[in-house]
Amino acid sequence: MSGSALYETFARAPLAFDRGEGSWLITEDGKRYLDFAGGIAVNSLGHGHPHLVAAITEQAAKLWHVSNLYEIPGQRRLGERLVAATFADKVFFTNSGAEALECAIKTARRYHFVNGNPERYRTITFEGAFHGRTLATIAAGGQQKYLEGFGPKVDGFDQVAFDDVDAAEKLIGPETAAILLEPVQGEGGIRQFPAASLKRLRELCDKHGLLLIFDEVQCGIGRTGKLFAHEWSGVTPDLMAIAKGIGGGFPMGACLSTDEAAIGMTAGVHGTTFGGNPLAMAVGNAVLDVVLEDGFLDDVSRKALVMKQGLAAIADAYPDVVEDIRGIGLMLGLKCKQPNAKVNAALRGEELLAVPAGDNVIRLLPPLTVTDEDIRIGLDRIRAGAASLSHAPSATERKQSA
Ligand SMILES: *Cc1c(COP(=O)(O)O)cnc(C)c1O
Repeated sequence: MSGSALYETFARAPLAFDRGEGSWLITEDGKRYLDFAGGIAVNSLGHGHPHLVAAITEQAAKLWHVSNLYEIPGQRRLGERLVAATFADKVFFTNSGAEALECAIKTARRYHFVNGNPERYRTITFEGAFHGRTLATIAAGGQQKYLEGFGPKVDGFDQVAFDDVDAAEKLIGPETAAILLEPVQGEGGIRQFPAASLKRLRELCDKHGLLLIFDEVQCGIGRTGKLFAHEWSGVTPDLMAIAKGIGGGFPMGACLSTDEAAIGMTAGVHGTTFGGNPLAMAVGNAVLDVVLEDGFLDDVSRKALVMKQGLAAIADAYPDVVEDIRGIGLMLGLKCKQPNAKVNAALRGEELLAVPAGDNVIRLLPPLTVTDEDIRIGLDRIRAGAASLSHAPSATERKQSA
């Protein structure tokens, strides 16, 4: 055995946490890290949120799991609430983002199958995409580093450059079933599709009878200041995968669909053992209680603006470390001038947690409940991290030499 009993698939930081409080993670020896990684956009309400703790504790004492052989009232309720809040008419609950995407892809293929077009099974995706690590979702994501060594790539996925709507249009053929994208790419480096592109893609889907699938696993559930990121564009999809933030740390996901798109998903066609179980539903409903509270999302946008302005000032002060600030809401990215792994390590040195992404970006994904004080401390720590890597003289040094 080499090292540990675990697969060596994760390059873990040498850190272990004992507990969490809001935006903070605390090690066994009491060191406090400001958590702007948020378990990769999962801890939407931070750590130890009293409403979530109460919801899961109460449910845990009553019932954990019964399977989808029976009615699950919490599932019905969460489904109805997601339908009421979105374009969707139907919901299928899963345990993860990848499974939510699998459900969306299967739903799209099945739609064409029951409409007499079984040859339409291909999905167009965009470079930089991340849709999960199952065999189909690595094919959808199209990233060579995730595909290599796992046998033939699952058939049925074609990719064009990020935001290249013209190329997507050219690729549409008699076998095309759907177009799939993240309205704001997460792993790809916090890259947002312009509203105009989403509108054109919607038009293309309507014209060619394709289904538009949004992956809001990372950018959904209030992350951008709207319940779902696509709301900023006014464009609605036919299918949407969600996960991460809806569970607030409990593993769960969902595929949302219009009635029409879900037409092929009849009894026995798809399934899951754990998906939508009472524990997950108690937490999902509790997350929605908070996120849908009056004013909650407006406050996310207000805090996001404070944070973005603070980050822009840091980019101005240390252009040899941070080239640019991107993103929307509390899904922000530092486009780094130096290797992002180095910047991430410097931030960790300041006891601030962030997440590297593609395109040499550092993601900042604080809990939606982050306080103004947390943001102030976070900006101080990010500034200190940038200063430690910068060759530019600091403001105080400049003053001293003047
Ligand atoms: C994390 C993520 C996934 C995969 O979710 P898992 O729960 O890890 O399977 C899919 N799409 C996007 C946009 C993600 O950020």
